[in-house]
Amino acid sequence: MANMSEYSELVIVGSGPAGLTCAIYTARSGLSPVLLVGQAPGGQLINTDTIENYPGFKSIPGYELMMNMLSQAEELGTQFIYQSLERIERGEGNRFRLSLSSAEQIVARTVVIATGATHRRLNVPGEEEFSNKGVSWCATCDGPMYRGKTVAVVGGGNTAVMEAIFLTNFAEHVFLIHRRDSLRAEKYLQDKLFSNDKIEVVWNSEIVQISGNERLNSVLLRSVIDNSERALALLGLFVAVGTTPSSGFVSDLVETDGDGYIIARDTKTSCAGVFAAGDIVSGSLKQAVFAAGQGALVSKYVEEYLGAR
Ligand code: NAP
Repeated sequence: MANMSEYSELVIVGSGPAGLTCAIYTARSGLSPVLLVGQAPGGQLINTDTIENYPGFKSIPGYELMMNMLSQAEELGTQFIYQSLERIERGEGNRFRLSLSSAEQIVARTVVIATGATHRRLNVPGEEEFSNKGVSWCATCDGPMYRGKTVAVVGGGNTAVMEAIFLTNFAEHVFLIHRRDSLRAEKYLQDKLFSNDKIEVVWNSEIVQISGNERLNSVLLRSVIDNSERALALLGLFVAVGTTPSSGFVSDLVETDGDGYIIARDTKTSCAGVFAAGDIVSGSLKQAVFAAGQGALVSKYVEEYLGAR
């Protein structure tokens, strides 16, 4: 771990593709960024089995892609601090005071929030055991592995419906498991879903157990109507029950939407000097390449902001 910096022109919070791309760009511009890694480096992708939609790599393990980004940022002079951010406050002279999990503090002129969001879990037995062994949170990333197979998506929002439709490009049969008798997804998506022969909606059902051997092979469903249970055989389960933004430490400083995502226009938040990039931004595409693109964009605005002062 690098020595704690007491003052920095730029502190980047989060070590996913947005934060690391911002570090690479700003380090190349000579800014000496400090990057708060959090508890573990690499963001959500560190746990992604294989990434097949990042340009330049036909297929790359998420761990390898993120380690490449980390070492690139480090070689260029980024200072990594393996701690989490507890709080950001306005300091004197248009500066910000960041309190870390160790209780140490950094003063910064600009802050880039790139802490992303975490996928909500079902919190049922078997979910952790079969995570990345059949249980996935990203159809775009893992869907192509299920060509000709039977899979299921759980959830009733836009993401679940879009993922179910997307999965029909590969899977032979797609169950959409939802705990109610109506979807919250937008109507145009529902129309597409209901007209797709490969999709079968399982209404009023909750998953209570995820089972398998080496990999997932079935889920146990319980009816919310009469509590009856039945097993459903499938090889892939895509959990799409919403996401939780990691923005608690900054919500009183910048404007957020009703779900806690940061509202940012061209990465600029409602607080001058505080920027946001990647999945933490309200309305973001939630794809690694998009987050990396925002990491590049935010570096331009940080440099502009610092140059103008
Ligand atoms: P969401 O809208 O919050 O939907 C989550 C779904 O998961 C809901 O149907 C919910 O059921 C269900 N759910 C939650 N917890 C569950 C649990 N423990 N077990 C089973 N089911 C559970 O999340 P999202 O679909 O990820 O969308 C997030 C936001 O992004 C939304 O505002 C959405 O409109 C937006 N989005 C937009 C697009 C687009 O193209 N316009 C695409 C994707 C996402 P209930 O319905 O019963 O609550």
